[in-house]
Amino acid sequence: MLAERARRLTPSPTLALSARARALRAQGIDVLSFTAGEPDFDTPERVKDAAIRALREGKTKYTDAGGIPELKSAICAKLKRDNGLAYEPTDVIASVGAKHTLYNICAVLVDPGDEVLVPSPYWVSYTEQVRLCDGVPVVVPTDEARGFQLDLTALRGAVTPRTKFLILNSPNNPSGAVYPRADLERVAALALERGFYVVSDECYDALSYEGRVQSIAELGPEIKARTILVNTCSKAYAMTGWRLGFAAGPREIVKAMGDLQGQCTSNPTSIAQWAAVEALAGPQDEVAKMAGEFDQRRRVIVAGLSCIPGWRCPMPQGAFYAFPDVSGLFGRRFNGQTLRGSADVTTFLLDAARVAVVPGVDFGSDRHLRISYACGLEQIREGLARIEAACAGLEG
Ligand code: PMP
Repeated sequence: MLAERARRLTPSPTLALSARARALRAQGIDVLSFTAGEPDFDTPERVKDAAIRALREGKTKYTDAGGIPELKSAICAKLKRDNGLAYEPTDVIASVGAKHTLYNICAVLVDPGDEVLVPSPYWVSYTEQVRLCDGVPVVVPTDEARGFQLDLTALRGAVTPRTKFLILNSPNNPSGAVYPRADLERVAALALERGFYVVSDECYDALSYEGRVQSIAELGPEIKARTILVNTCSKAYAMTGWRLGFAAGPREIVKAMGDLQGQCTSNPTSIAQWAAVEALAGPQDEVAKMAGEFDQRRRVIVAGLSCIPGWRCPMPQGAFYAFPDVSGLFGRRFNGQTLRGSADVTTFLLDAARVAVVPGVDFGSDRHLRISYACGLEQIREGLARIEAACAGLEG
């Protein structure tokens, strides 16, 4: 019998859907996928070269569990350059992707029954990780009418003496929302007043289309001392497979994460660390180029989806996902089946349009779909045409 903890994991409808999409492809059916949670660009050559150099130089041994000093310095320099934040190498840690970083944060901070505030829609792993650590995720809706901005009144109402931390994710996966400074200031005031930490997942900070993303840690030394800032090489440098994430925060928390890592994984892969040094410290022009392409695709996909009857699609401000509300299709029928939720719409799109997208229910909203635009413009145009044609064929 599996441990109760393992049985607590929620099976994701997306997995069943991916299996179905794969089965269709195996039958030779051309399925267009809009499910990718990763850039379609390749890792920059300079980064690959750094990894090859490390390999040739024999940098293939264990390193310090929390990362090589060169990487810790590069992380500090990045946070200084992009956010004006001063951290010492002892305040930062590198892990096996930000997913690992976030899990370690839960593992060292959450006691059984502790509560973690998770604004919704949210990235799927937040709630699962909190549960795995015997904590209680407290999901707090955001304000969809204001582009999924934080609802400060709802947040305040959800704080209890058991609140351990709040997870902020700006730019947000899946909604694309970027939180303005004024709201971050109100969150910081609340965190300081009620004494909880803020875990700020800034994985998409380089992919913001309407100005620089501010970190809540920038708002002053008090809130910086209560913030664990999380980032990754995955998105900004198209390095998802390299598995290199990092965090900066209060020294005792970072130390505990390092001690935990020392018993669980040891260091992130040595050559990925050398690649990350180059990614973070080298010239940043590829990042801006990639962001420019995503911006163009964002406009095309949102304009296209907004024209389809029954769909409402706000303009995301960052990341690479559209998050349309498709509840206007609920009650309509396909093959005699009535569409009742996001998983039904996803199945319908796969069967009728040969288009794979992710149901919003995985992110805490059953009225939405997540459509990744980390794919070429040609595929986006073809996908839009297929979706429109399939919706026009719905009965009822
Ligand atoms: N946070 C968010 C919001 C994400 O979307 C992802 C990747 N999908 C991660 C964290 C994890 O990134 P990685 O583990 O690849 O660094």
